[in-house]
Amino acid sequence: MEKPFYFDNCATTACDPRVLDKMWPFFKEHYGNAASHDHSYGWQANAAIDEARYELATLIGAKEREIVFTSGATEAINLAIKGICDSSDRKLKHIITTHVEHKAVLDTCLYVETKGVHVTYLPVDHMGRLAIDKLREAVQENTLLVCIQLANNETGVVHNLDEVGEWLRKFNIPLFCDATQAVGKIAVDVEQSHIDLMAFSAHKMYGPKGIGALYVNQKVRKRLQKQVHGGSQEMGLRSGTLNTPGIVGFGEAARLCRLQWREDYDRLVGYRNELEIALLESFPGLSINGVEAERLPHVINFAIPGVKAEALLLAVSNKLALGRGSACSSAERLASHVLLAMGAEEERAYHSIRLSMGRFTKQEEVGAVVQILKQQVESL
Ligand code: PLP
Repeated sequence: MEKPFYFDNCATTACDPRVLDKMWPFFKEHYGNAASHDHSYGWQANAAIDEARYELATLIGAKEREIVFTSGATEAINLAIKGICDSSDRKLKHIITTHVEHKAVLDTCLYVETKGVHVTYLPVDHMGRLAIDKLREAVQENTLLVCIQLANNETGVVHNLDEVGEWLRKFNIPLFCDATQAVGKIAVDVEQSHIDLMAFSAHKMYGPKGIGALYVNQKVRKRLQKQVHGGSQEMGLRSGTLNTPGIVGFGEAARLCRLQWREDYDRLVGYRNELEIALLESFPGLSINGVEAERLPHVINFAIPGVKAEALLLAVSNKLALGRGSACSSAERLASHVLLAMGAEEERAYHSIRLSMGRFTKQEEVGAVVQILKQQVESL
């Protein structure tokens, strides 16, 4: 049986074969522990980790010593939010986030709320854009942190944080950014955007699963309480033996993104435009969520009137791998909290479909999508 065309790159990307080639020797030959300082196996692992750290730092405009390796973005997000809240000895603590964050952020916020932290959730407009004036109104004297995603994982809507970051610096409030969907896909520069903490993950940028990082600006390092205790790896912020093959793969993925993201971007914008035109022509009344906002090049989130997303995705599943974007955390799937926050009615928030392309998406696959969807919509 032929494999379905893969259009779920926001969920995870394929690992680039060049990344795998780079990782393989670190399972087979160079298996030393980077914390073993007394022999060449350890030195080799350590050197490879330094190289990867350099690549990640270079990709996001940071310094090597500002990269803390974690098991993925979820852990990095937990470290950032809990770490900042835990290190403050204020009685009244306040943080600000948005209604459209990934569950990894929202659930961590819910957790800190149970510990007495007050959380303000900022609204977005009908295109998923954040209003900076709402943020200005929300800031309080005891605000410890502002958490805003760089790009939304369901709609691909991108938030320009340069102005937000600059404004927050005046009040000495750190800006934490979940950049999991953005790094390696668009230009990300922590200096330019005045970002203090930033989470990202290898498996969203053609690297392996199980490895991610938190960028920690030197200035906020002392305001971050570690969440994993042990051998004091990663400057004491995240203990545990380092995942050398994963880190090496992450570094190579970062290097390749640095060299290739622009080329990928231009090709994917072309595919997206082609697909959006074909979708709009083929399905009367089809709506594209977030279409007027600045978006990631590879994501289309759409609803076809009268079509149940679940039934359509199942019907096409032997030909197309598509997603619904919203996290399915229980047996009963809920309407997308992101689309609801954008003011979509329940029906649209429940039945929208996310199509996400990537580096390995081919022109002929793009050309086939709408035809496959059309056949199934007609038969449904
Ligand atoms: N944040 C965003 C925006 C995401 O899209 C994801 C994964 O889908 C995560 C965080 C969690 O990333 P990880 O799988 O590396 O824990």
